[in-house]
Amino acid sequence: MNTIASELAASIRSIPDYPKPGIIFRDITTMLGNAKAFRRAVDALVQPYAGTKIDKVAGMEARGFILGGAVAHQLSAGFVPIRKKGKLPHDIVRIAYSLEYGVDEMEMHRDAVNPGEKVILVDDLIATGGTAVGATQLLRQIGAEVVAACFVIDLPDLGGRKKLEALDVPVHTLVEFS
Ligand code: AMP
Repeated sequence: MNTIASELAASIRSIPDYPKPGIIFRDITTMLGNAKAFRRAVDALVQPYAGTKIDKVAGMEARGFILGGAVAHQLSAGFVPIRKKGKLPHDIVRIAYSLEYGVDEMEMHRDAVNPGEKVILVDDLIATGGTAVGATQLLRQIGAEVVAACFVIDLPDLGGRKKLEALDVPVHTLVEFS
């Protein structure tokens, strides 16, 4: 593991059998509360895209909002919330998606991204990839160009990265847990 990966791994709390037996929940609230680790994580998420023209950063509810907002600020990009069903007040697009522990629907405002705009997806963790694949499809539905997806944590055994790469979305992650 490289320095940043081991630093971040040490700042993330692992909770066995949450939210159900057999799942190890990777809790980033400890990383977010650690000023140095939070800054290091945001800087490392942004680093491959510094100097690139990115129009929008799309963050997945809820932890993707915290990281995505910081990433958008660093890249001087706009921020687009991708939310759970029923939370957005204006005209929306919606997609059903599967999670490591369930099924859900996500929505975004139809006018949140203009056709052809370059968008980076941000979330705390990629597991099966269901959430990020759904978000990619949603963004493409309204004509966005999804140039990359980045995550603090990759769970490589669950195959999410490969699913996104198969959709031609380059994936950037900082630390792996097996
Ligand atoms: P997936 O759609 O399977 O890639 O799951 C990714 C989404 O579910 C992210 O928004 C994560 O925050 C959350 N998630 C899935 N598995 C875990 C886990 N083991 N620990 C923490 N969050 C998780």
